[in-house]
Amino acid sequence: MNNTDKSKFQLLEENRQLRLELADAHRSADKSNAELYKREEQATLAMRGANDGLWDWNLETDYVYFSPRWKSMLGYSETELENIFNTWEQLVHPDDKEPVLKKVQDYLSDRTESFEVEMRMLHKNGHEVNILSRGFLVKRESDAKPIRLVGTHVDISERIKAKLFDENSAKILEMIAIGDSVSEIYDAIALMYEARHPGMRCSLVELHGNKLMHGGAPSIPEEYCNALNGLVYGPDIGSCGTSTYTGKQVLVENIETDYKWANLKQVALPHGMRCCWSEPILNSSGKVLGAFGMYYDYPALPDEGESKDLKSAARLAGIIMEREQDQKRIRQLAYTDELTGLASRAHFYQNLEELIKTSKRHDRRFALLYIDLDNFKDVNDSLGHDAGDLLLKEVAERLSKASREVDFVSRLSGDEFSIVVEDVIDDLSVINVAQRCLDIISKPFELSSRKHIPSCSIGIAHYPDDGKNLSVLLKAADTALYAAKESGKNCYAFYKPELTHKAEYRFQFEQYLREAIEEQWLSLVYQPQVDINSGEIIGVEALSRWHHSTLGQVSPIDFIAAAERIGMIKVHTEWVLYTACRQAIAWKNAGLPALKMAVNISPIHFLDKDLVSLVKRVIDETGMVPSELGLEVTEGVVQTDPENLSVFQELKDLGILLAIDDFGTGYSSFASLKHLKVDYLKIDKYFIDDMMNDEKTMLLVSSMIKMGQNLGHEIIAEGVETSEQFDVLNNINCETAQGYLFSKPVTANEISKLLTLPESVEN
Ligand code: C2E
Ligand code: CA
Ligand code: CA
Repeated sequence: MNNTDKSKFQLLEENRQLRLELADAHRSADKSNAELYKREEQATLAMRGANDGLWDWNLETDYVYFSPRWKSMLGYSETELENIFNTWEQLVHPDDKEPVLKKVQDYLSDRTESFEVEMRMLHKNGHEVNILSRGFLVKRESDAKPIRLVGTHVDISERIKAKLFDENSAKILEMIAIGDSVSEIYDAIALMYEARHPGMRCSLVELHGNKLMHGGAPSIPEEYCNALNGLVYGPDIGSCGTSTYTGKQVLVENIETDYKWANLKQVALPHGMRCCWSEPILNSSGKVLGAFGMYYDYPALPDEGESKDLKSAARLAGIIMEREQDQKRIRQLAYTDELTGLASRAHFYQNLEELIKTSKRHDRRFALLYIDLDNFKDVNDSLGHDAGDLLLKEVAERLSKASREVDFVSRLSGDEFSIVVEDVIDDLSVINVAQRCLDIISKPFELSSRKHIPSCSIGIAHYPDDGKNLSVLLKAADTALYAAKESGKNCYAFYKPELTHKAEYRFQFEQYLREAIEEQWLSLVYQPQVDINSGEIIGVEALSRWHHSTLGQVSPIDFIAAAERIGMIKVHTEWVLYTACRQAIAWKNAGLPALKMAVNISPIHFLDKDLVSLVKRVIDETGMVPSELGLEVTEGVVQTDPENLSVFQELKDLGILLAIDDFGTGYSSFASLKHLKVDYLKIDKYFIDDMMNDEKTMLLVSSMIKMGQNLGHEIIAEGVETSEQFDVLNNINCETAQGYLFSKPVTANEISKLLTLPESVEN
């Protein structure tokens, strides 16, 4: 039965009656007020049946009669509220006041024929009540002057709420249809129920394992939501923690006193939560997925409407949650390979499409490795499919280990896998991953209690070089894989054959180098550093040499870079430091004049925290005088984070010398050196060469020297080859020079000879 329709119908009838009654009352103008109200009381009684409130405003005295029902509609008793127009005005919602008063005015001044308005009024409790107010004017018979405005109030809150609820439900359906995020839908559900129950705050939590996770609570402070997020459920963990645990509704009338809230009330009470009712959210088969909570800021138990809504809210949330979980599961099923747990072929395609897009946008390269097990068919045929599956699982695990976390590993089909490697710096940087795969796959594996040694072949293609779109790139990787199979399996091949050859060379080179460093097969040569004033050798720079039986003499530029790449640079530096310092001591013991010994340190090693302790160890063990040991490092390190640069101070604390190598070629400025205790600047050979041809370079060199000296650095000119260069450097007050003019880097023996013989260069 629709109450609203009923009251509307009755209202018309009652209004008519009332009008007649009141008109009659006014006809006898001399009747006392008391009698008048007696009649009105009758009318009021009639009204009460219709659940309407009555008001009667005397325009001449401003006295307003508010019927008891009128007052109770807004939460007041019969004795409360002053009988004046202002009482009514004050109770109208501030946002509605202006239009409502205007309607009153319009009607009073005959601009409108009737008075009827929908407005929000304020309940004594603070919430809003939707009121339909209707009225009519009573005019004095003698002169037709309006003397009273009489009317009714109908509470239409329920109707408005029902309408709103319908609108909100429709909105939520729409959100589901257009695929809005669940958290947005959760919020909308909470808001929908809050709109139906003024003052209520709602929350949705999801149950993940045994933990409550925040779902949606748009009207509840974040601080409170965060405090509950991740809470482990239990038989006395607030309302929602308990209802998810028991699977039953939990109604807490008073948070302050309920034992279930004993440990949580301190977070709830400051946010004004006083009661909390929770209904478990279930899926269609009855499994608990979460809980719907309703809060008020006063202790209470739900009335019939609230109780019904609590259940319906949880049901609605259950549909959404179940749907979301299903979708997640479907996504996961489609995107992971069931057997190995790697990304599936579908995921691979999707990922690659995305990667091509972003790489194009940012002008980046990546490498695609196609990996195929060698002779997998034989395993399946001879040992059966279960054994084959075991092998595939093992291979998947090994490939994941061989790649970095950022690399994307997937199983494409059968025994085909793929690894996508991003951020490849050069053509060959991916061979480390490829080689690791070959190595790790070919480790023995027990299959059907027999030792099996698997192997694989790898095809490598690069985006964009070998293919700018998905299909061309895949084809390139496939062609490369075929080439790897052709050349005998258990190897990798690039799409471009020349890269394969290069890679093979590099791989071989690195193997040789690793061995040479481990076995200490490298040697040191020493290049003198000469005092420009006196022409005396005051120091030497130790430089590494590598002669290999098949590769021949290899440039340090190449093998130092390779040692850095394969992680052998620290081992090598350690050897250089020990060898150079022992040599310095040996010269000293042989009675040669004291020399400064300079050693080159790779930037990556320089910034390593081990360097300081290594240098200390070398000094202690060899007996090297710290002030006679210098470390040369290129400008690049100055560019790094200031906090990494404490190493300069720590090294200085050991008492050794520090030099900036190749000064002028990088981007460091004198200003950036200010805080670093640098002893020497080595001006790069490029400037020394160029200064003879270019006056500007000459100016530059001379001001570098002046400025450097003013800031307390000594200057060494590198690569001095001619006496002209030497003269110029002498003129512009450069202190030290190094270069072929004095000597190429030579063996320790030859340095001994140079030091005992008269100097070859004289002023
Ligand atoms: P660098 O530290 O700038 O070393 C100076 C290079 O210039 C040496 O080349 C040296 O032989 C060469 N050089 C010296 N005077 C002249 C000259 O008058 N004319 C010409 N054309 N060249 C001259 P080298 O020995 O080939 O070393 C090249 C680079 O390799 C070095 O440059 C250094 O950065 C690196 N390096 C060499 N040994 C080591 C080492 O033990 N550790 C590290 N980390 N790097 C090293
Ligand atoms: Ca150097
Ligand atoms: Ca240099």
